[in-house]
Formats: sequence, C-alpha cells, structure tokens
Amino acid sequence: MTTIFDSHESKVRSYCRAFPAVFKNAVGAELFDESGRRYIDFFAGAGTLNYGHNNPLIKRRILDYIQQDGIIHGLDLHTTAKRAFLETFENIILRPRHLNYKIQFPGPTGTNAVEAAMKLARKVTGRNGIVAFTNGYHGMTAGALAATGNTYHRQVSGSLLNGVTFAPYDGYFGPDVDTIQYLRKLIEDDSSGLDKPAAVLLETVQGEGGVNVASFKWLQQIESLCREHDILLIVDDIQAGCGRTGTFFSFKPAGITPDIVTLSKSIGAYGLPMSLVLMKPELDCWEPGEHNGTFRGNNLAFVAATEAIRIYWTDNTLSLAIQHKAHLLRRRLRKLCDEFPAHGLTVRGRGLFVGMAFEQFPQLARQVSAEAFQRGVILETCGARDQVIKFLPPLIIEETMLDEGLEVISDSLRTVMQQANNNPAGGLPDSIAQEVHP
Ligand SMILES: *Cc1c(COP(=O)(O)O)cnc(C)c1O
Repeated sequence: MTTIFDSHESKVRSYCRAFPAVFKNAVGAELFDESGRRYIDFFAGAGTLNYGHNNPLIKRRILDYIQQDGIIHGLDLHTTAKRAFLETFENIILRPRHLNYKIQFPGPTGTNAVEAAMKLARKVTGRNGIVAFTNGYHGMTAGALAATGNTYHRQVSGSLLNGVTFAPYDGYFGPDVDTIQYLRKLIEDDSSGLDKPAAVLLETVQGEGGVNVASFKWLQQIESLCREHDILLIVDDIQAGCGRTGTFFSFKPAGITPDIVTLSKSIGAYGLPMSLVLMKPELDCWEPGEHNGTFRGNNLAFVAATEAIRIYWTDNTLSLAIQHKAHLLRRRLRKLCDEFPAHGLTVRGRGLFVGMAFEQFPQLARQVSAEAFQRGVILETCGARDQVIKFLPPLIIEETMLDEGLEVISDSLRTVMQQANNNPAGGLPDSIAQEVHP
C-alpha cells in the first residue's frame, strides 16, 4: 500500500519509485518489506551501509548509550562520545596511515561537508574558482551542486551555480586522450581564460557519475599539478571512502595526500547522519562559528562510528575480505558480460565499488534493475544516462549471499536480454526507463 506516499509525499521522492515496496526491517545485507518479502541489498543506501543494516555489534553500543541517557544532541559541545570518536579516528585511522588532519564536523549530510570544504579552500587561498570534473557528483546544495555535472540536477538552480570550472575526468575522451595535459595547459596558459583556482575537487571513483575510475597515475599527476601551482586538492571520499574501494581512504593506494578530504555516508556506521571535513592543520583558518549549524556532530553517530572503527579497522581483516569478495564479484560479472558479446558490456570499479556499463544500450540497465527488484534484489543504476548498474553491497556481506544475489542478477540480465532480442527496438519503451529515474 503506497497510497499515502503517492498522495502526500512530494514528487521529489526518487529511489522509492524504482523500488516501490514498503520496507520494514533490515539486517546485514537483507531488507524485508511489510509483507515479509526478503530483498538482498546491493545498494546499501548508496554506500551508507558499508557495515550492513543494523549491524548487531554496533547496535549493542548504541543501545547501551541510549540506556545510559548519553548525550544525543549537543550542538558542538564537548562530549565523551565526541572525545572517544576523535581519539579513535586519530589512533586507528589517521596516525597509522601517516595522515595529519584536523577534523571539522559540519552539518550531517555529505553536501554540507562539500560546502564547507569549498568555502574553506576559498577562504584559505583568497581565490574563488574551483575545478571540478565531468560526471562528478558532490551534492545538491548550491555550492556543491555548482561542482556537480548532471544537467537534470543543475537545471533547477540555474543562475545560482557559479565559481566552478569543469575539466574532463580521466578517460572522458577514451583511453587515448590525456586529460591532465588539457587541465595543465588551462592552468599554465595566462590566456586560457581560467583564473587560478582555489582548489581542484574530485572523486577517485565517481559514484553517481557512472562508477568511473581514475587511474592512480592520473591522481598522482593531478596532485603534482596542484602542488606546482599552489592549488589545494580536495578529495570527496563520501562514497568511495570508509572501505568501499578496499582501503579506508580511496586515495591512499594512489599515494596521494589531499589537502582536504570529505567523508560522510558510511562514516556514521549505522546509517546515522554524520559528515567530516579533514584538513591539513595549517589550513584550519576558520573563525569560531564561521561554518555553523545545529546538527554538527551527531553523538549517536559518534558512538556507532567509534565502535565500527574499533571493530573493523584495527587490523586488515575487513580490507582483505573486501578485496577477496571484489575479486569474486568482478570475475562473475566479466563472465556474465561474455555471454553477450554483441552488446559491448563492460565491468569497471575498485573494491566493492563496481559498475556494469551498457554504453550501447543504456535503457537495458534500468530494465535489469527493475527485473532484479521483481526477483528480490535491490540494484541501482547510475551514470549520465542511467546506463550503468551499480554493485554496492554492504562490505560485510557473506559470500553465500553475494553469490545468491549475483545469481538473481545474472538471471535478470538474461531475461532482459531475451526480451530485448524479441523486440529489436530495445525492449521496454524508453518512457518506462525515464519514468523511474531519478
Ligand atoms: C552522496 C554524495 C554526496 C552528497 O551527500 P549527501 O549526504 O547526499 O548530501 C557528495 N559527494 C559524493 C561523492 C557522494 O556520493
């Protein structure tokens, strides 16, 4: 029964259109709707539930904390929960990785962290411009949206969006064009029309933009370019961070050290809203309250995050498990692609951040997602044309459930392909594919 949602909830709702069940319970990688029907979750709240739904180990701590009347809302007051989080983040995440960052708690959403990061970069450098990349996604508030490529999202805000110049992401023109050379020329040529920017803002793997992966070499070259010209490097690790690509920070294996990092989505560990801006200490030029807010530092999220970090990041067990499962996933998907050689399907990604792209038949991706949902798997699409299906299971998913989900998805793809072959125009009409998104 979805009547109340249809009649009373704003039309702005989106994911529920693609997955029109009424969900009630969830544990680990499984969701259950009101009728008790089970779904395997290959979307995990767009990467917010890396440790699974209602992770029992984290839940225990949250329940204890509530039982003891621990502080839930505290503006940005000092609390024991915040202290424990800061100490744990420093001792288990930052120091062993030789990262020296100060930590800012902006409002609890990802877009707020990006706003703060852009604002800080502008304040520190006294420059206005930010360079962002084609197909990038950084959030929906005006500053972050200005750095987001997608027209569907941009058009609503029209004239508000300024101060950002877009450069081509790695591979934007195919494998043979060096997009660094283009950006370097723009920055170094006094007559290019590009004023020296405050910062370059990027995702190491573009989530919403289609699971586009930047090579380590490209990331290193961007870092060098920034260093040479005294431009700040901001990595938006909101979706790719917190273990999604196999390491806590997605940029670490590339050997780069951003000046500013944004984290959100899974940092709250239990699906609780929280976001962070990490900045090199010398950049911390904020005046008190300059980026203020009521919900800065969600104490329940501190409790959950502290516990998750202690459980999952004190050694490399989780990291190795991610890499192992990623290997299984990609092998399966590549095999599946091979079943349809004429369709030019490709698999890309890093760690458990994987996409299967239907560049030549974009509408099929939505159809596979819809078919998988019918069969009990939540699988989202992404990319400018929704042409990519995105595999983002909780990192803690058991191998057997990963297998089970993949079996369902494989059957869904086969069914969709069969339908498409019977109807050479491309299967279901485009209007259906468009209706469900975004
Ligand atoms: C989701 C996301 C955001 C925005 O986070 P919200 O919490 O939705 O505001 C920003 N950047 C990236 C890379 C994201 O994936």
